[in-house]
Amino acid sequence: MLEKSQQLLQRATKSIPGGVNSPVRAFKSVGGTPPFIERAEGAYLFDADGNRYIDYVLTWGPAIIGHAHPEVVEACQAAMAKGSSFGAPTELEIELAETMIARVPGLDVVRLVNSGTEACMSAIRLARGATGRDKFIKFAGCYHGHADSFLIAAGSGALTLGTPNSPGVTAGTARDTLLAQFNDLDSVRSIFETFPTDVAAIILEPVCGNTGCIPPDPGFLEGLRELCDAHGTVLIFDEVMTGFRVGYGGAAGRFGVTPDLYTFGKVVGGGFPLAAYGGREDLMRHVAPDGPVYQAGTLSGNPIAVTAGLKTLQLLTPEVYEQLEAASLRLSKGMQAIIDKHGYPMTQHRVGAMFGVFFSDQTVHTHEDVHGCDLDRFNAFFHAMLKRGVYLAPSQYEAGFLSTHHSDEIIDQTLEAAEDALAEVFAA
Ligand SMILES: *Cc1c(COP(=O)(O)O)cnc(C)c1O
Repeated sequence: MLEKSQQLLQRATKSIPGGVNSPVRAFKSVGGTPPFIERAEGAYLFDADGNRYIDYVLTWGPAIIGHAHPEVVEACQAAMAKGSSFGAPTELEIELAETMIARVPGLDVVRLVNSGTEACMSAIRLARGATGRDKFIKFAGCYHGHADSFLIAAGSGALTLGTPNSPGVTAGTARDTLLAQFNDLDSVRSIFETFPTDVAAIILEPVCGNTGCIPPDPGFLEGLRELCDAHGTVLIFDEVMTGFRVGYGGAAGRFGVTPDLYTFGKVVGGGFPLAAYGGREDLMRHVAPDGPVYQAGTLSGNPIAVTAGLKTLQLLTPEVYEQLEAASLRLSKGMQAIIDKHGYPMTQHRVGAMFGVFFSDQTVHTHEDVHGCDLDRFNAFFHAMLKRGVYLAPSQYEAGFLSTHHSDEIIDQTLEAAEDALAEVFAA
């Protein structure tokens, strides 16, 4: 069934580490062969072996209006014909910046970059440059790209000084990254007790999507806002995943808490390498050439990527978010009905068109809670779904996504597959 993909993987591993250009694609945690994808359209992926999958990964979030949307394809083809990069300013970039600013609360000024990693790295540099402080707080399980200072393992407890979780990250870098627990304000307070005036920034995913989809408990984001105000610390929402996904104004719009800085990526690039950071005007004016905090990029604001992002945002009207909300509600209600009917020890979360299904009957509020899930069962479920033509993220620690092409019919097919797959998984 995956013969061609198997051959391709064998060939790929010779020239590319693990045969992939981003580790999670290698299916290391679930095992087996990743299907090699040939093309995608709407809600579907098609692999090199001729299989079709209903896609809930959506290139890790960006394909919110479905793969290869005809209007995006057409706009990008037209842009392509005008030249793929100029290394000089364009009017398109202003349009994208203005479109973002009009939707996101407290977004005054925005700089375009090429990846979420770059956006987060630059936002931290800006917070440090503007405050003159070195340390920042991140939460165990939140992912902010692969820049050195973010690759710090989950410690046990708020005051654990970070230890690098990748060789190549120096102890010196790790020392300035302080770890707190998501949904635990006390863990943040105790860091401020130790370092009352040393913390440049708190960075977090307002909905933790790199631990499966964990929403903020009521009061958590508000509490962080107050702590940042009290300590002169910059609050950064990493909305690379949630921005323009969980609602018209992203997570900040949805939860009513406004950070000082944002990072964006994924949806805003419409499937191209485009990301952004931005926020409060007085902070953003520290960025070069307005100010001394340096950051640059040869392909930043690339016209094809900007065209795709802009077209995608234009198609994402408030009505479209209502449609996405209804579709994802249908999926999560259907899943809950299956879980309840059979009494499976499972729990789930959903925020807009983003969801997580956990193999645990406990509530899942933190990264630690996800460690307590039955990962073997998740892996079996993943493969049972793949076999039935449903492509989920190959890890319990990843969120699922819906697009505007996930129709009632497609969702109902998914639910049928899930009931079948779960019966197989729990019978084993
Ligand atoms: C994906 C992601 C990143 C990293 O973005 P890349 O474009 O992969 O570098 C950063 N933060 C969050 C929340 C993400 O989901």
